[in-house]
Amino acid sequence: MRLVLVGPPGAGKGTQAEFIAAHLAVPKISTGDIFRANVSQRTELGIEAKRYMDAGELVPDEITINMVRDRLAEPDAGDGFLLDGFPRTVPQAATLDKMLVDMGTSLDLVLELVVDDDEVIRRLSGRRTCRGCGKIWHVEFDPPTDDAVCDRCGSELFQRDDDKPETIARRLEEYANKTAPLVDYYGAQGKLVGIDATGPVEDVTVRAIDALRSYGG
Ligand code: ADP
Ligand code: AMP
Repeated sequence: MRLVLVGPPGAGKGTQAEFIAAHLAVPKISTGDIFRANVSQRTELGIEAKRYMDAGELVPDEITINMVRDRLAEPDAGDGFLLDGFPRTVPQAATLDKMLVDMGTSLDLVLELVVDDDEVIRRLSGRRTCRGCGKIWHVEFDPPTDDAVCDRCGSELFQRDDDKPETIARRLEEYANKTAPLVDYYGAQGKLVGIDATGPVEDVTVRAIDALRSYGG
C-alpha cells in the first residue's frame, strides 16, 4: 500500500506512522526525520535545510523532492510506503504523482489527521523525542518515567529546536498557506480520508486502521 499522512505539525503523524507502517509492513518515510539526520551529521543537505527548519519554514521544494526521489528508489520502498510529512506543498504532490506514474504505480490513500490549533500547540510544546530509537513522547500526554530518558531504549530525550513557541507559530502559518491546499488536491482525486486525531493515541490508531481497511488496506 502507498500511503500519505497529512496534518498540521503536532497532529500526531510521527506517532501514528510508527503503528500504521508496522500494521501495513511498509517502511515509514519521514522527511523531517531525514532532514534531522542530515542536520546532526552536518551534511551539505543538512546545513542547507537547517536554515529553513530553524525558522519554522518549509525547505524548498527542489531540495525536498530530490531527497524523496532518492529514498523512494531504495528497494524497501518498492512494494509500498507510508510518507510522513511529504508532500507538504501542491508542487511536491504533483511531482510525487508524476514520479509514481513513472514507476508504474500511484498512491492508494491520503490520511488526514484532523486536530485544532490549540491542541497542536499543547502537543508540540510538550514533545520530547528519543535520540536513540526516535520514539516520540509527551511530558503530559505520554510521559516517560524520567523526563530526560527514553523508557523504551534508555537513550537521551531532547526537545526539538523548532518546538519553541515563536517557531511553532511560523510552522502553523506555513501549514495553512502551503500544506492545507493538499486537502483539496487529494480530495479532488478521491483519495483523501479525514480522521479525528483527538483522544488517546490508541483510539486514533484504531480509527486510522479502520479507514485503511475500508479502502482495502
Ligand atoms: P507530528 O509528527 O504530526 O508533528 P507527533 O507524532 O510528533 O506529531 O506528535 C506531537 C506530540 O503530540 C508528541 O509529543 C506526541 O507524543 C503527542 N501526541 C501524539 N498523538 C497524541 C494524542 N492522540 N493525544 C495526545 N498527545 C499526542
Ligand atoms: P517534521 O518533522 O515533519 O515536523 O518536519 C520538520 C521540518 O522539516 C519542517 O518544519 C520543515 O522545515 C522540514 N520539512 C519536513 N518535510 C518537509 C517537506 N515535505 N517540505 C519542506 N520542508 C519539509
